[in-house]
Amino acid sequence: MPILIFFLAHWFLSLFSQTFFYHRYASHAAFTMSWGWERFFYIFSFITQGSSYMSPHAYGVMHRMHHAYTDTEKDPHSPKFTKNIYEMMMRTNKIYLGIYKGTLTVDEKFTKNVPDWPAFDKWAITWTSSIRFFNAG
Ligand SMILES: [Zn+2]
Repeated sequence: MPILIFFLAHWFLSLFSQTFFYHRYASHAAFTMSWGWERFFYIFSFITQGSSYMSPHAYGVMHRMHHAYTDTEKDPHSPKFTKNIYEMMMRTNKIYLGIYKGTLTVDEKFTKNVPDWPAFDKWAITWTSSIRFFNAG
């Protein structure tokens, strides 16, 4: 029973960090928070997302592009331009990594006021990379 509670808590908390921090805060700037709370939710997201942790900055930029370019060729997460969901996710991952590594040029309107803590992301993503089943990075 405790293991079931652990996994359910982990699942719900990862959903919470996804919707609250990555989506509503980083991507849509639906609300503001102090520097300290932003740092807290970076760490909270790392703990709750575990090996699925993504840079909130790169995710926020990519999600803004997704909304701006929905179902066009510039949409980083559209099923219209790939043969199957695997190809779509690989394409999305490639764009995400381009944003994260700075190898993809992104319009300034997508990066404005997106939270950014590169030192933490570098640590978190390197550390989690070592325990992933598969590292596309
Ligand atoms: Zn959205």
